[in-house]
Amino acid sequence: MRSWGGLPEHPQRSRSLNWRDELAECWDEPTLAVGAGRSYGDCGLAASGEVLCTTGMNRMLQFDQNSGVLRCEAGVSLGDILRHTVPAGWILPVLPGTQYVTVAGAIANDVHGKNHHGFGTFGRHVKSLLLQRSDRELIECSAGNRSEWFSASIAGLGLTGVILQAELQLKPVAGAWLQCDTVRFRELAEFFALSEESDQNYEYTVAWIDCLHARSRGIFSRAWHIEDARPAPLREPRFRVPFTPPLSPVNRFTLRAFNSLYYHRQRLRGHPDTIPLGDWFFPLDSIGSWNRLYGSRGFRQYQCVVPAPVVRDLLAIIRRSAQGSFLAVLKTFGDLQSPGLMSFPRPGVTLALDFPWRGSATLELFAQLDAVVGSNDGAIYPAKDAHMQGADFRRAYPAWETVERLRDPRLKSLLWQRVTEDS
Ligand SMILES: Cc1cc2nc3c(=O)[nH]c(=O)nc-3n(C[C@H](O)[C@H](O)[C@H](O)COP(=O)(O)OP(=O)(O)OC[C@H]3O[C@@H](n4cnc5c(N)ncnc54)[C@H](O)[C@@H]3O)c2cc1C
Repeated sequence: MRSWGGLPEHPQRSRSLNWRDELAECWDEPTLAVGAGRSYGDCGLAASGEVLCTTGMNRMLQFDQNSGVLRCEAGVSLGDILRHTVPAGWILPVLPGTQYVTVAGAIANDVHGKNHHGFGTFGRHVKSLLLQRSDRELIECSAGNRSEWFSASIAGLGLTGVILQAELQLKPVAGAWLQCDTVRFRELAEFFALSEESDQNYEYTVAWIDCLHARSRGIFSRAWHIEDARPAPLREPRFRVPFTPPLSPVNRFTLRAFNSLYYHRQRLRGHPDTIPLGDWFFPLDSIGSWNRLYGSRGFRQYQCVVPAPVVRDLLAIIRRSAQGSFLAVLKTFGDLQSPGLMSFPRPGVTLALDFPWRGSATLELFAQLDAVVGSNDGAIYPAKDAHMQGADFRRAYPAWETVERLRDPRLKSLLWQRVTEDS
C-alpha cells in the first residue's frame, strides 16, 4: 500500500478486513486502520508498516428514507452511498473532491467540500460512531454520549480506535443535477470579492488559480442544486493512466502551457450550465489513477488555511520557486465549528497545490511556506501532509494531547510519530 502521493518508498503490508469479527485476530502487532488510500501523505501509513484495510467492510446497514439517516459500515465509499441515496432524494451534505473516499476516511480527516461556508465539515453530519479498541472494548459515541470519544475521533486521524460503523444525517436533494456558472478573475482581489459575494448566494463555490501567473488569475466556479428528475449515475473514469512513467511529464514548461490553455479555453457563457453532480463534485475522477502522471518519484500536496491577505505572500513564494501545479485550488472557509477537536478547516482561505516531488528543492519551498503559515496563525492539512514539523502541528492543533491520551496504544501512523515524537 502507498499513499496517493506515492509514499513510502517501500510499500506497506496490508491486511484486509471484511467483517468486524475478524478484527479480534488483528491486534497482536501495532497497526493502523486505513480506507481507500486517498490521503496524499503519511496519515494513512502505519508507523509499524502494517495496515488494516477496512474497504471490505462496505455494507449499508439501515437507511430511513423519511429522516435521511443512514447507518453503514466504515469502508463504504461516498460514491456508493450517493448511488443508493440520490435516487431516493438524499445526498451526503459534505463531499470532498473524489467519490472514492470511505466513510471512515472522511471522518478521520473530517473532510470538507465546496460548501464549507454553508455546511461545515463532514463531521458535523455524523450522528454517532462505533469504535473498537485493541482491548476489545466497543465504544458507541455521539455528541451526547461518551462525547469525548466522539470529538477525539472526528478528525482523530484514525488513532482512537478502528471505526466500524457510522450513522450519518443526509440532506434532501431534488435530483442529480446542478447548475454551475464560471467567472474569470484577473487577480486575487477579484477572487476575494467574488468569494465574499458568492458565498452569500451560492451553495457551492471554489476557484482554480494559475499559480505561475504574476497576478494569480483564475476561474471562479459556483453551483446550486436544481430540480431535475433525469437520472445521472456517477460515472467510472473515462480514461485510466495505465502505468507510472519513469519520468513525469509534469514540469514547469508543461505546467505553464496547461495553465494558460485552461484559463483561455474555459468557455465562459453568460448563462449557467446544467451538469450531473459527479462532474461538479469529482472532476478529477474522470481520469483514473491520475496520480501516476507524476512519475515514479510521486508528488506532494501542500494545503494550508491562512488569513486572506497572506495568500498573496504564499503565491509569491511559489512563483519565485518556479515549482507550480495545475491543480491549484482556492476556497474561502466559513466559520461553522466542527465537533472534531483536530479539525483542519477554520476561518480563512485555503490554498491547495500539487508539486512534483523534487526532494530537497520541494522541502526548501515547503519550509518557506511553513514559515509564513506559522507566523500568521495558519494550519497545514494533515490529510495532505508528509513534511509538517512537530512544532507547527502542535501549535495549529493544540488538542493533540487529548487525542494522544485517548489514542489506542496499538494504533499509530507515520504522521503521528513524526509530529508528536520530535523534540
Ligand atoms: C482527488 C482527491 C481529491 C480530494 N479532495 C478533498 C477535498 O476536497 N476535501 C478534503 O477534505 N479532502 C480531500 N481529499 C483527501 C481525502 O478526502 C482524505 O484524505 C480522506 O481521508 C481519504 O479517505 P480514505 O478512505 O482514502 O482513507 P485513507 O487515506 O486510507 O485514511 C485516511 C485516514 O483515515 C483513517 N481511517 C481510515 N479508515 C479507518 C477506520 N476504519 N477506522 C479508523 N480510522 C480509519 C486512517 O487511519 C487515516 O488517518 C482528496 C483526495 C483526493 C485523492
